[in-house]
Amino acid sequence: MAEPSIKRPKGTQDITPKEVNKWQTVEVACKTTAEDYGFSEIRTPTFEDTKLFVRSVGDATDVVQKEMYTVTSKGDSEFTLKPEGTAGVIRAVIENGMLNEAFPQKLFYLTQCFRHEKPQAGRLREFHQFGCEIIGTKSPAADADLIMLAADVLERIGIVETKLNINSIGCPNCRAEYIKALREYFSQYTDTLCETCISRLEKNPMRILDCKSPICSEVAKNAPVILDYLCDECKEHFDALKGILDAMEIEYRVNPRIVRGLDYYTKTVFEFICDNIGAQATVCGGGRYDGLIRELGGADTPALGFAMGIERLLIAAKRGRAEFIDRASCDIYLASIGQDALLKTAQLARSVRDIGFIAEYDIVGRSLNAQMKYANKIKAKFSAVIGDDDIKKGIIKVKNMETGKIDNLRLDDSFAEKFGDILTDYILNDDLDFDCL
Ligand code: ATP
Ligand code: MG
Repeated sequence: MAEPSIKRPKGTQDITPKEVNKWQTVEVACKTTAEDYGFSEIRTPTFEDTKLFVRSVGDATDVVQKEMYTVTSKGDSEFTLKPEGTAGVIRAVIENGMLNEAFPQKLFYLTQCFRHEKPQAGRLREFHQFGCEIIGTKSPAADADLIMLAADVLERIGIVETKLNINSIGCPNCRAEYIKALREYFSQYTDTLCETCISRLEKNPMRILDCKSPICSEVAKNAPVILDYLCDECKEHFDALKGILDAMEIEYRVNPRIVRGLDYYTKTVFEFICDNIGAQATVCGGGRYDGLIRELGGADTPALGFAMGIERLLIAAKRGRAEFIDRASCDIYLASIGQDALLKTAQLARSVRDIGFIAEYDIVGRSLNAQMKYANKIKAKFSAVIGDDDIKKGIIKVKNMETGKIDNLRLDDSFAEKFGDILTDYILNDDLDFDCL
């Protein structure tokens, strides 16, 4: 295989036509499920003021400390390619006056994200997220609805064997006590913890619980557990959520190790883990972020959301029961002999395309033989050959490439519609045969 003189950057992917149907299947499942739950799509810029991510994602996180792609634009502004979707959405909600509209606002997005990480399966530098946000409700019913939506997206894609892990990380009131206890606990291990975790000890010891180093994870195993520190309000919220999930028969495991230790996260946090897709097993992460909108300059408004990594969904889908939509094949290939016939096939193709069917004709200048070979290769359902004689007679033979059956069609304005009837009959009968089996 030839190699281009300049190759694609490390940690990025090309999605070729052979793969794109899988992406489209997943994207359609995400979009339609969100719409069925009453969510609307929102699109925000690919890059934002760097301060937006520092303030929202949090300056003690890996994303901000190590993973951002930041550029200084001409002039003096500093921009960052979005490492995640929520910050931009919340900025847009505030900036576009959407906090004055009816609550709850329910929004979804599909976007590419950029993080400077060590590339591996399921971990890229440019990746894609599907995310949903609910703005303007404190009720645990919203947490449950959001989790149900995520579960349904996974199910509709055909991803099986996912496990839902939930936890509550409390509110700033009850967390203060917990952070004190954590700091005391981890202070005993300053000789063992990695350098990053030592720096987290002061700023945000909850991040240590999320460290990927095996040594830090080992130390974290016996750390105090947030659930023992929840205030009455946070405890009630968590109990109510569990009650709804039980009633909806959504299976979950309470996992006190899930922290998503950002300052603005409050109460519920959750992850969907898919065990059979390797080391990068978290396909979805989410939680409540009641403090974020105020932090970004909006009125104090509770909110929550999740994000799924599309690349990981695809790995899981291929291992699961996903049925990918196939790219539709050509409905009719119109072969031509000579220049007049070529023009005629161009006109006919256009009229067939106009009524929503796929038509192709020769734009290469091939011999008739080569044109028919191509028609076979692209699996055209029907074909027709047009020469000067056919144009004179005003009639062409349309051949079903599978059965060999021939229909004579007039070469006039009625062609596309008549062809549409033949095609529809063929597809319907094909389905009937299939049903009878
Ligand atoms: P991880 O622990 O795997 O690094 P994270 O906590 O950094 O994930 P989030 O910021 O919660 O991830 O992003 C939500 C989802 O986006 C993840 O659950 C994952 O499916 C996906 N994701 C995150 N980073 C990447 C990446 N570099 N490449 C591909 N997908 C990613
Ligand atoms: Mg990460």
